[in-house]
Parts: sequence; C-alpha cells; structure tokens
Amino acid sequence: MGCVSCPLPGINLDEDWQQHPHTELIHTTFIGGDGNFRLRRHNKGGGEVTDPSLFGDDGFYGPNETYKKFCKARDAAPDDTTVSSALINLIMITRQMSTSCVRSGAFMPKGTVDLTRGERFVHFDFALTHILSDILERGITRIVVSYDIACIYHINFHKRLINKNWLLMSPTEQETLKTMKLIWLVPKFHLASHVEGCADKFSFNWTPNVGRTCGEIVETNWASLNRKDTLTDAKIDTNWRKAINEGERVFLPRANLID
Ligand SMILES: [Zn+2]
Ligand SMILES: [Zn+2]
Repeated sequence: MGCVSCPLPGINLDEDWQQHPHTELIHTTFIGGDGNFRLRRHNKGGGEVTDPSLFGDDGFYGPNETYKKFCKARDAAPDDTTVSSALINLIMITRQMSTSCVRSGAFMPKGTVDLTRGERFVHFDFALTHILSDILERGITRIVVSYDIACIYHINFHKRLINKNWLLMSPTEQETLKTMKLIWLVPKFHLASHVEGCADKFSFNWTPNVGRTCGEIVETNWASLNRKDTLTDAKIDTNWRKAINEGERVFLPRANLID
C-alpha cells in the first residue's frame, strides 16, 4: 500500500478533478528522496542467497534483479552476489536510498534501493523512474521532487533516462514526462547549507502551489524505523520463527540418534 491521502485518479478523485479551480495545488504528487547510511547489519553474511525477500518485487523495493543488472550496466555499484565470501563483509549493504510522499511521509512502492557504497545519481534514477512510471499511468500531471541535492541532480536527469547502456523509461513514457510539470526543490532545512543561487531557484518558499511543505519528511522516517513498536514487531517475528523452528532443532537430532 502506498499513500492513501495522495490524489490518485480512478482511486479517490471525482471524474472531473481536473476542472477544480485549485487543481495545481491539490492534484500534485510530492516525492521525497533520501539516503539512509546507518543500516548496520541490514544484510549480514551471505546476502540475498541466504536471506531472500518474501515480498519479491511487490513491496517497497525497486525490482531487485533488474536493479542489479542496471547497476552493472551503469557501473553504479557492485551487488552482493558477485563477491566472494571472504570479501562479502567488506562491502555488505549498509545503506539504502528510499522515497516517500512528502505530504504524509508514507513510503512509496518500488521507491527503495540498496546502496553498497556511496549514494549516486543513478541509484535515485532507478527508484524515481519506477515511481514516475506509475504516476504517468495514473494521469497526474504535476510532480514535485524534494531531494537534498536536487539542484545538481536534475541537470542531466533526462539525459540519464536515455543512457545507451540502460533505458530507464520507454520512449512513450519520456514523451509523456515532457508534457508534465516536474518541479525540483531542495528541502528547507537542507537548502540553508547550499550556495546562495540555490535558495532562489529550489526553494519551497518561492514556489507557488506547494503550501507550507518543508520537504524534509523522508528523513524523519529513518527515526521512526527505530521506534520501539517497529523493533517490537521485529522481535515478535524473531519469536515466531523460534517457535516454529525449535522443534526441528530439538527433535530431529534425537530422531537421528534413535535411528
Ligand atoms: Zn501522499
Ligand atoms: Zn544547491
């Protein structure tokens, strides 16, 4: 499930939504992107081979196998399946790039990718284009992207979409994207540390029809992932796995002895 409060044609909007006098203000999708660099132990040991996802490509991660091929094609980052066991701990995944709705903070489906080294433009390209493809399909025509380096990230964004090594959007999607209002802004707190010219061009405060959005909400999600209740949920899962696996550990060795 994505964000339930975002306007989605065909889901929670009237048929004549585009006739609303404030459609630009109301019917905009706000996407926030940020890297989390403190995922210690996120993918310990043998990586996906020993810890495969049960959600496959239907959760909050971008399609994983495609992402790995993309990384290889764009020389973006090594993935954890190509590394020998001796090296695996040296470059295990400890970071993540994720996206959320900047209105509510809800994580966006397909909008998260693993990082093994630094955060690079191509990583966000992969997550963002998967989100944009979904939005294009639904018919929303105005999108605000809040990213702490949007001022430099956006410059070659369209060129990267058609990189000869990997096409991130189909020609039809690219044509549709060109007809949309795609607005790049820097979150308010981050903008204070940018050079003076950025403050005018990438400020929420100077952009019409964004309300009082601060653009920082994706950062706050990292804190909420470490909430007591989030950890409690993980602990319940640990206990569940203990409960259903202990029998095997206790009784199977004994059964072997009896045999
Ligand atoms: Zn939303
Ligand atoms: Zn800047």
